[in-house]
Amino acid sequence: MDPRLQHLTLKTAARSVADLAMPRSCVVCGRRLIRDEEHICTGCLADLPLTYFQTLERNPMSERINAVIERGLEAWTPYMRACALFFYNSESPYRRIPQALKYSRRFGDGKFFGRLLGKALAASPLYADVDLVVPVPLHWTRKIQRGYNQAEILGEQVAGELEGARLDARVLRRSRRTRTQTRLSVEGKSRNVRDAFRVVGKPSCKHILLVDDVCTTGATLAACHRALRSAFGEEVRISAATLAFVTTS
Ligand SMILES: [Zn+2]
Repeated sequence: MDPRLQHLTLKTAARSVADLAMPRSCVVCGRRLIRDEEHICTGCLADLPLTYFQTLERNPMSERINAVIERGLEAWTPYMRACALFFYNSESPYRRIPQALKYSRRFGDGKFFGRLLGKALAASPLYADVDLVVPVPLHWTRKIQRGYNQAEILGEQVAGELEGARLDARVLRRSRRTRTQTRLSVEGKSRNVRDAFRVVGKPSCKHILLVDDVCTTGATLAACHRALRSAFGEEVRISAATLAFVTTS
């Protein structure tokens, strides 16, 4: 037998044994995964509602964030490009992908989708020149509570897929612990996070990519943009990418 084939057969056999001991499940529908399926079943992967926003300079997500940015500024600022891998709304089972990473510590699933996001960005001329990946930070007290920052896990994977990009999880800090945003209005969210971020240091770069798990109102990304823009000036491009873009319908 071809040694590679033998290796694959052994790998499949080992996985089958592991599946019997501790079944793996699809992060979206919960169905038990079979053979070569990883993290998500074939059916859910085929139906993943991709946005393809990475191919568009302007799209519903970038328009939403830039509207928040413009409301908070007196002076003109360069348009922020933004994209997400997939859409979801409150009824969609795909909301479980970011939830699995944020609340259930399913790091393997989070990394898998982070890599998919990174690959989509690497294939787009709008993002291929990103040289600094900056995750949206948690306040340090919240990071201690949770034990990790989900945006940092995603940022690591994204930076790994973008040639010439590196992750810097220290440049942006959350200086104020903000209230949980779930129940706030768009205006309320914007006020809640507006001055919550500050920049520490100024590494040399040309194109910063902010990374977060989801984009809902765009208030958090707009507030991060505000802090980065005032530190880095207009010469540096600032873009944003998230796993998911939350739609209201
Ligand atoms: Zn599934």
